[in-house]
Amino acid sequence: MSTENFTPQMQKWLTNAQKVSQKFATFVRQACERKLNPPTKPWRNKEVVLVKLLQEYPVKDQGVHVAHWQQKVIKKCLEVYNLALDLFAFRQEFTFPKIEFHKHHTRSVGWFCPGDHTLSFHIFTIILEQQRYLDDVVPHEMAHVVQHYLYREKIIPRKYASGHDLVFQILAQMLGSTGKATFQISQEEQISQRLQSQQASLRQTLKNLEPKKGNYYHYHCACANKEHKLKIIRHNNIQKGKRQYICLKCKQTLKFTGQVTPISIFTSE
Ligand SMILES: [Zn+2]
Ligand SMILES: [Zn+2]
Repeated sequence: MSTENFTPQMQKWLTNAQKVSQKFATFVRQACERKLNPPTKPWRNKEVVLVKLLQEYPVKDQGVHVAHWQQKVIKKCLEVYNLALDLFAFRQEFTFPKIEFHKHHTRSVGWFCPGDHTLSFHIFTIILEQQRYLDDVVPHEMAHVVQHYLYREKIIPRKYASGHDLVFQILAQMLGSTGKATFQISQEEQISQRLQSQQASLRQTLKNLEPKKGNYYHYHCACANKEHKLKIIRHNNIQKGKRQYICLKCKQTLKFTGQVTPISIFTSE
């Protein structure tokens, strides 16, 4: 098949793939051909079936919302994995990754650890962003799995084994993700607005899973009705006598009121 039949998107992938290596360009070209002419009998790894998978990832004791969204993520992972098998014709040696759900506060909403072949997903963001997370983050992380596989198979050089460069963008887009390195989570006002409309039990679940962000330390100055909320670093600087902060308006030194409140995206401010 000639590249004439390729869509402009595919032509672009191919041009970019050529910048990486001839091997990778051939790989992408074959995948594009399979995308245009999908195999009549899709390749399915018999070892990985959804029912079995869900058994491997028990979701007990987590609450109904958590269990529901964990299962949706696992299901989507399997979908994207099967797409990858069809598209890239990997067969058995492309093993399904282990899946984990984390809830600690981190800048990453998901990541792939090649060392233990594990995908980790941020449960709070999943439940908050729902379909948007499934559509973008899951294929994004699966693209990292493919990317690492290609490195191990020596189809791409080491410098393309991780990160979000040309290789990654091509793979992520082929698997249905935007290929962008960041996932924009809803703005805080939007979140609290959206939460108002959620049912009480879901609201409680999210509250329990909410990443801990520390506290605000309340300070006052000479302005009437003005309160300054400082975070831990500035608060410590003041308490240790290392620094002083002044109000830009009244030019008075800020004084601690003694009030401490947790930073929460659920507080409407
Ligand atoms: Zn990434
Ligand atoms: Zn002031």
